Amino acid sequence: MSIRDIKISLVFLAVFIGLFILQCRQSKQMTEQSKKLADLHLEIIEKLEALPDSTVIQLCEVEPMGPIKSTDYYYITQYNLEERVSKHFKGKEFVKYNDPDINVYKGDTFQIHKNMVAGAEIVRIQYGIPVIINSPQRSFTKQMLVNPSAPNSDHIDGNGFDWVFLYNHDFYSDKLRLALISKEETELRLALVNGLKITQIIFYNTHIHFGFGDPTRGNIKCGGIWLEVIDKRTALVDYIE
Ligand SMILES: [Zn+2]
Repeated sequence: MSIRDIKISLVFLAVFIGLFILQCRQSKQMTEQSKKLADLHLEIIEKLEALPDSTVIQLCEVEPMGPIKSTDYYYITQYNLEERVSKHFKGKEFVKYNDPDINVYKGDTFQIHKNMVAGAEIVRIQYGIPVIINSPQRSFTKQMLVNPSAPNSDHIDGNGFDWVFLYNHDFYSDKLRLALISKEETELRLALVNGLKITQIIFYNTHIHFGFGDPTRGNIKCGGIWLEVIDKRTALVDYIE
């Protein structure tokens, strides 16, 4: 082996060691990050445990939603699938391709209430995690296939949708649930509930349902609205509403 060969070998060795150290540091950082997240999750769960699984809160001070107008919806057809309905969402994300009665490629239209899109956007921005819309509007036929026990589901009019966090879904679900039912008012709740009137939020193992819910639910004596936050994640069957 010549001196030159040894030099080259040493350079390679140095690069290799350098990369190895970098890799170790990165994986140590990642472990620390996931440990922090796990600790934070435990803290959130502890707070949630002190609160009921299902909460229906009467919010006397919150103005109820007025009558819905046709201009309150986005209408998505095969011609505007790629157009944005908000900063992070395109029309096509609120379209489904396996509905027996609504097919954009046969001239049908999907509709989604603008407040629902805004709700998805707010959650997306608040947590910085991509949000996947996995069930938007459903025809009545589709609703009967998915969940015949909810024939009046908000999905039928595009007044509700199901979505999931792209990753760390459990952690962010708990965080969101705490923000909705915690005793202190949170900005997120003010935006979603007081602002957008998204008053039915149901947590499932695989997704979260956002909808307006039944405005006549409960007995409103003080004016205002009802906020319904239900955790169905412990259920053995993964219900879909
Ligand atoms: Zn749903």
